This record gives sequence, structure tokens and C-alpha cells, in this order.
Amino acid sequence: MNRRVVALVAHDSKKLDLVEWVKYNEGTLRECSVYATRSTGQEIKRHTSLAVNLLLSGPHGGDAQTGAMIAEGKIDVLIFLWDPLTPQPHDVDVKALLRLAVLYNIPMACNRASADFLISSPLFNANKPADA
Ligand code: PGA
Repeated sequence: MNRRVVALVAHDSKKLDLVEWVKYNEGTLRECSVYATRSTGQEIKRHTSLAVNLLLSGPHGGDAQTGAMIAEGKIDVLIFLWDPLTPQPHDVDVKALLRLAVLYNIPMACNRASADFLISSPLFNANKPADA
């Protein structure tokens, strides 16, 4: 069976939020392939036993790398808890990632409430097209 591929990215002030969300949803996420930007992924690994593929750190190209994976069809779902109150040095990469997720019609959640809706949707567990 094709595993759903989930990308996780959180800005610093949102990392705790994302770790809590991952803990709560660890059972579901275990059935997925999980990628995360480096510091986000390291934080998740520190607090859970979830297997996470680490990408580059966000400000060093990780957001761009995630966007490229979306453009290549390698990511199915994006959870991106970005910080609406703090300017980011890599703001252009953040915008590019958001743009590519919309362009490629990837389900994307930018806050925890949306992430809850997304992961509890029946569509989240529906077979990927290759399985249908
Ligand atoms: P980080 O990157 O997980 O390496 O902190 C996230 C981001 O800033 O986009």
C-alpha cells in the first residue's frame, strides 16, 4: 500500500504546538511517511518515537526543499504552523512554499485547528490514487 507522505514545518514559536499535535496523532502518523524541516523534526524526535525524515533547516533551504518535493509530487499533505507575529529571514521561501502547496492542490493546514480537521478527515485515510 502506498503510504501517505506528510511534511511537517513549524516556526520556532509554534514548534511546541506541533509536537503536541504529533503526540496526539502519533498513531495515525505512524502509518505515514513523515518529512520535516530539520529543527522541527529534531524537536519531534526528541519528544516522540515517530520516524521522521529530516530535511534542511527551514532558513537554510528546508522550506524551499519542501516546496520542491511538492512540485515533484512527493508530498501529499503539508502541516505548516507558521508564525503570523514574527518576521522571518526566509520569508520569501515561506511564501514560495505556501504558493506551491496551493498551486499543486496539496491539503495544507497552517494552524492546529485546521491540522485537526485535516488529519481526522475520512479523506486522509482514503487510498492514494495509485491504490485506487
Ligand atoms: P526548522 O524550519 O524546522 O528548521 O526550524 C522551519 C522554518 O523556519 O521554516
